[in-house]
Amino acid sequence: MTTVQSAQSATETFDSLNPATDEVVGSYPVHTEEDVAAAVARARAASKWWNSLGFDGRAERLTRWKGVLTRRAAQLAEVVHQETGKPHSDAMIELILAIDHTAWVAKNARKVLGPKRRSAGLLMANQSATVEYQALGVIGVIGPWNYPVFTPMGSIVYALAAGNAVVFKPSEYTPGVGRWLVDSFAEVVPEQPVFQLLTGFGATGAALCRSGVDKLAFTGSAGTARKIMAACAETLTPVLIEAGGKDALLVDADADIDAAADAAVWGGMSNAGQTCVGVERVYVHEKVYDEFVAKTVAKAKTVRAGSDAGAQIGPITMPKQIEIIRNHIKDALSRGGKALVGGEDAVGDKFVQPTVLVDVPEDSIAVQDETFGPTLTIAKVKDMDEAVAKANDSRYGLGATVFAKRRAMELARRLRSGMTAVNSVISFAAIPSLPFGGVGDSGFGRIHGPDGLKEFTRAKAIARQRFRPPLALTTFARTEKTDAAVAKLITLLHGKRK
Ligand code: NAD
Repeated sequence: MTTVQSAQSATETFDSLNPATDEVVGSYPVHTEEDVAAAVARARAASKWWNSLGFDGRAERLTRWKGVLTRRAAQLAEVVHQETGKPHSDAMIELILAIDHTAWVAKNARKVLGPKRRSAGLLMANQSATVEYQALGVIGVIGPWNYPVFTPMGSIVYALAAGNAVVFKPSEYTPGVGRWLVDSFAEVVPEQPVFQLLTGFGATGAALCRSGVDKLAFTGSAGTARKIMAACAETLTPVLIEAGGKDALLVDADADIDAAADAAVWGGMSNAGQTCVGVERVYVHEKVYDEFVAKTVAKAKTVRAGSDAGAQIGPITMPKQIEIIRNHIKDALSRGGKALVGGEDAVGDKFVQPTVLVDVPEDSIAVQDETFGPTLTIAKVKDMDEAVAKANDSRYGLGATVFAKRRAMELARRLRSGMTAVNSVISFAAIPSLPFGGVGDSGFGRIHGPDGLKEFTRAKAIARQRFRPPLALTTFARTEKTDAAVAKLITLLHGKRK
């Protein structure tokens, strides 16, 4: 495959490593500010052509791309596996979700964004009112490494379906995944650079923020999100922020405990805990606490990190995260917490084994900060009101999970999070019609679903006069008679005492 749609003038390069072996799996340019500006200029021209294809033309290309992604999923999964270390089957899961989202946007963009009639109201009954959602132009997408396909595709395919060109800066840990995506798209859209790749570190991302793109969609940590917003503020570039989380799982007394324990272990440990909507904290009703802990411990003991075929989870992709995970566990244990599975010894050079912590103070870093490792803290609560209060006592608010019967929906609503899964875990991410995004330090704006499509558009309102109004308001020729008639009408419509 040739890289036809990536900026190529940079001379400095960097290596992408396999985190399990440190083997170099690819070498990529560090794109400069000039490269970024050139890519955005090319994208601007391409966006006009892409937009002119209309919803049906774009849907046809996106559907073809979906076919390529599906047929070559194993090849892309291998690139994901090499760059992140995650098991092949986990890479396949994120691909499957991304493919499903691509199918959804191709099918639904016209319905969601196309022109729609609105009621003009009695006062303006002579008008025909319509709204449509028009593409912004060029979208900059900056992505993370933990789900290098699923996560950025939540912005990329929605922005493309809405009629925008996209300039994508993947994480420096997963540039090969970015290249694969851009090259495969170019096979179905060879005419223009509608979807381009920029590779490099934070400075390349910062240049994209300042490049005059029409919107910047960022997925990554809350710390970087602050820098992104500051850089985008210089050019008043709007931003969409998908940042980190500290998601809680609640277990009520009437919950299916086996299912809850299974969800806690998979939600907390899969992808070695490097999941923005991964379970990090668990609050369990005192009546079922002992049973839940015993079942969770038993299940967590069956999970092992490694690079062999039998390991369920892979390495910690970003070496510097190892120290953060170690500190969280160390701090929790030094403050009275107990490790029922794993502990400090679970943290190796590249791999972290599952760790289940109990009796950890709520104000410790293992409960407050994003750990991003295969760890869980479990706390006993006297009732679910206490569980909700503790779950909500976080600066983050991305996803959440509730295992309950009678009060499930009430608890789900009360959780301060963008998404809540009830009696399953992370299910919301796999439902393309549902919005995805956070509150607080987890960010703002929404990807996925109709809301995700609208994020990459501007609403355009058109009021078309159908006939001359009996009461003409917008003219200096307005008479006293008109004013009196309007006053009477408005009193009739809105003046009634209750
Ligand atoms: P990160 O913030 O370190 O990096 C994300 C991206 O930002 C990378 O491409 C990086 O090169 C770029 N970047 C770094 N500094 C920059 C700067 N100054 N200006 C512009 N760009 C810059 O995050 P990460 O370690 O790649 O990803 C893990 C984080 O992402 C976790 O916090 C995780 O929870 C979060 N995440 C959130 C979601 C979500 O949907 N909310 C999804 C996946 C991951």
